[in-house]
Amino acid sequence: GEAMAGELILIVEDHDKNRKLVRDVLQVTGYRTAESETAEDGLRLARELRPALILMDIQLPGMNGIEALGALRADPATRHIPVVMVTALDPSEERVKGLEAGADDFLTKPINQPELLARVRSLLRVKTLHDTVQSQAAELAELNRTLTRRVEAQVAELERLS
Ligand code: MN
Repeated sequence: GEAMAGELILIVEDHDKNRKLVRDVLQVTGYRTAESETAEDGLRLARELRPALILMDIQLPGMNGIEALGALRADPATRHIPVVMVTALDPSEERVKGLEAGADDFLTKPINQPELLARVRSLLRVKTLHDTVQSQAAELAELNRTLTRRVEAQVAELERLS
């Protein structure tokens, strides 16, 4: 089946119709979804649920999507989560701000379903690679610690015998 099926995707979108459309497309494809209507709520859910990907509307009531992206990037708990910024028509200025704030990709409204799924798949592949590299680095660090302990034990044993 779908390689990345089951991954949790957080949708931050204040318009009910858009949020439902995105949710339905993702769920039918096999992803799990979480939703929020505000950036503040989205930030809380991102920290609590650690989604594999976030779809962030830019125009939101209260804190906007660009500010929320900045907050995600400033928090070590959410820094590495890929974020797709969802923009209205004529997004050129928003794109620049989004790129500066650390956006991984953009989607333009009205949302095109195949494009949405293509971007989600592409970013989840990158995240999987990142996670693999992270876990291999952790394994190497553990191996290194084990080797260091063995060498130290052997040195101590040699000193005891000499
Ligand atoms: Mn909006």
